[in-house]
Amino acid sequence: MPGNGGEAALTEPSSLYIHIPFCVSKCPYCSFVSWPGMDSLHQRYVAALLREAEWLRQNTSTQPLSTLFLGGGTPTILAGKELAAIVTACKGLFGFTHQAEISIEANPKTIDLEKLTLLRRSDINRLSIGVQSLQDKELQLLGRPHSADDAITAVRLARAAGFDNISLDLMYGTPGQDHKSWQQSLEQALSLAPDHLSLYELTVEQGTPYYQQLDQGLLDLPDEEELAAMDQITATLCRQAGLVQYEISNYARSGYECRHNINYWQNGPYLALGAGAVSCLEGRRQQKTSDPRLFCEQIESGQSVVQEEECLEPAASFRETVIMGLRMNQGVSKERLQRRYEMELNDCYGKTLIRRLVDQGLLEMTATHLRLTARGRIFANQVMAELV
Ligand code: SF4
Repeated sequence: MPGNGGEAALTEPSSLYIHIPFCVSKCPYCSFVSWPGMDSLHQRYVAALLREAEWLRQNTSTQPLSTLFLGGGTPTILAGKELAAIVTACKGLFGFTHQAEISIEANPKTIDLEKLTLLRRSDINRLSIGVQSLQDKELQLLGRPHSADDAITAVRLARAAGFDNISLDLMYGTPGQDHKSWQQSLEQALSLAPDHLSLYELTVEQGTPYYQQLDQGLLDLPDEEELAAMDQITATLCRQAGLVQYEISNYARSGYECRHNINYWQNGPYLALGAGAVSCLEGRRQQKTSDPRLFCEQIESGQSVVQEEECLEPAASFRETVIMGLRMNQGVSKERLQRRYEMELNDCYGKTLIRRLVDQGLLEMTATHLRLTARGRIFANQVMAELV
């Protein structure tokens, strides 16, 4: 099939990502498409999103959505009724499968019981709360607009509103943090009985205030030894709490793994709406206009909002699928690779590379999957670099 990156029989997308690019303030480590101080644009942006959704429905062949993810930015900066209107519109246009996973990211500072109740009634059944730390000093250094108490209250309110699938995001390797404070944050987070945890190591991205501070020697980051101790603590505490690691940074109770993100890691097709959002269909990746004002203008005047487009060659797409799949503990399915690309691992990497990584104890080949070993997960970046 022309234009599909040479991939065999990709299914129609059943995942949709919607980007809400607004935040209360800009965190100094953040490189996402997110803008503070645009409150006056919210209503216009929601109207533009709804128009883009209609256009997408008319011009794309899709299945009913099995996952919808409202991410940001800070989606919950919008009014509850605006968010409910977006979800209702998507349901009407695309349909939802039975037991579709409908997620929203939330900042503790932007939710109360009334908003959470409205969200829960609107088909949203998974809440991902950006906690980041449960130490006020660390939260201040991270530039977060909320306190540890705000985050704890948010989880309690979410339960009271009827959310029974709650994920918490926490960061480690952050300024001023050591393994003891990480242990305290994680223990406190686990005491809230989350169904899912996303635990990300801070990466200092170019163009952020943190990058400048690091350059000037002003950022006090934990060293390798501290980071290794944090990894140990994470493994022990999550295991004790019954949360199983299913991806390099993600842990869940059985059955609460994030299906939307699993589709990303399987390099599956997904639709996207909103400023800065990225979609991937038939081997073609498109990024939408990042500036929300320009995005609204383009939608209102009927112009395209595609800012960048990339078409991957089959071999590049194959390698990407391997690398993304290795992020998951189960690894990448050999049968799926063969079915999708009509190619095997050795066709892409030659006979020796995978064998060497297996011999070094970094990769493991099971009857059905290629996956990282426990040691391979520690050196995941180096392994991925060899497989790019
Ligand atoms: S809340 Fe999230 S998206 Fe917004 S500025 Fe902070 S890190 Fe970026």
